[in-house]
Amino acid sequence: MRRLAFGWLVAVGMTAAPPAAPNPARFQLSQVEMAVPFELVFYAPDEASANRAAQSAFRHIAQLNTILSDYDPESELTRLCATSGEGRSVPVSDPLWRVLSRAYQVADLSDGAFDVTIGPMIRIWRRARRLHELPSPEKVDAARQLVGYRLMRLYPEHHGVELRKKGMRLDLGGIAKGFAAEEALRVLGEHGITRAMVHAGGDICLGEPPPDKPGWVVALVSPRHGDPPSGYLCLSRCSVATSGDLEQYAIIEGRHYSHIIDPKTGIGLTDRSLATVVAPDGMTADALATALCVMGPAKGLRLVEKLPGVAARVVRAEQGKPEGKTEEHLSGRWRDLPVATPALRGGGEMRLKSEARDPKSEARNPK
Ligand code: ADP
Ligand code: MG
Repeated sequence: MRRLAFGWLVAVGMTAAPPAAPNPARFQLSQVEMAVPFELVFYAPDEASANRAAQSAFRHIAQLNTILSDYDPESELTRLCATSGEGRSVPVSDPLWRVLSRAYQVADLSDGAFDVTIGPMIRIWRRARRLHELPSPEKVDAARQLVGYRLMRLYPEHHGVELRKKGMRLDLGGIAKGFAAEEALRVLGEHGITRAMVHAGGDICLGEPPPDKPGWVVALVSPRHGDPPSGYLCLSRCSVATSGDLEQYAIIEGRHYSHIIDPKTGIGLTDRSLATVVAPDGMTADALATALCVMGPAKGLRLVEKLPGVAARVVRAEQGKPEGKTEEHLSGRWRDLPVATPALRGGGEMRLKSEARDPKSEARNPK
């Protein structure tokens, strides 16, 4: 969620359309926002309109970060947290309201497995991962007192938010990227660009497919680090998010601790799993992918079956088995997702958490 101060714009293989080109040209632009590269791949009539649209989308993401960041001491989110325990509700901006409302819904659906009030726990685990030292049970207990989505009261009448205990901290790391990617796609749409995809560190939002293609190719990373993708989907008009501790974990006293935390125990996940969710929108995909890691495959997929338009895959290390042994769990709808044919995929292997591309694209997930 931290935004690097030196965000830059890179145009990768910008191809200007010839003046009277019948088909739009493909553009791929990337800029660091919210501390991850946001990559836009889309089809536009010419370079000038492509640049205008992309700049506008990047500006919008940067603006959202000034609202949603938990690093920025001036962000709207940080200012809201400063009112915790004051016994009053604070009216919030439309973007913050939309994110918190969806976060609350997913918290409710997942029985609190996804919980944006997790901030105090994230804090102590960030430190633990940095120092390779487990937090004391006292610290974990103190954090647990301040975590619980029902402590965040939402007032739809005036888009007000009340944080009921002093010291509460919200962390939108599990939902904000999905929201920002979805918003970037919307901004491109306002510029008339609909054949587009937005990719932000494991969160992908897809618009209409590339011209003459049935969809965007999404490569599913293998749970075994360094292995080729374990499958390819061909998708459009939906979002895909992957969460898990494949790369973001720390080994402390011989155990893997994920950056995803179980809000009930206050402890980083240790079961080594990877959840990929396909959903109608970016926020839902992002939040559910995090939730599924916490819930585990059985409970998580039971929830997914109940949600219209949602499909999921959960891969988990086999408990008690040698390193590298994994089990895969698929929701019913996952089996019906269109698979990308080898012809559509073209050449090139990727070893990413999840990634979308059209046959010429090389989107990168830096995590
Ligand atoms: P990534 O950031 O790797 O794409 P996620 O979307 O799963 O992965 O988000 C993980 C982030 O979400 C963590 O870094 C933290 O900020 C936050 N988080 C951790 N555990 C939870 C949880 N149980 N509920 C909600 N957010 C969480
Ligand atoms: Mg997430």
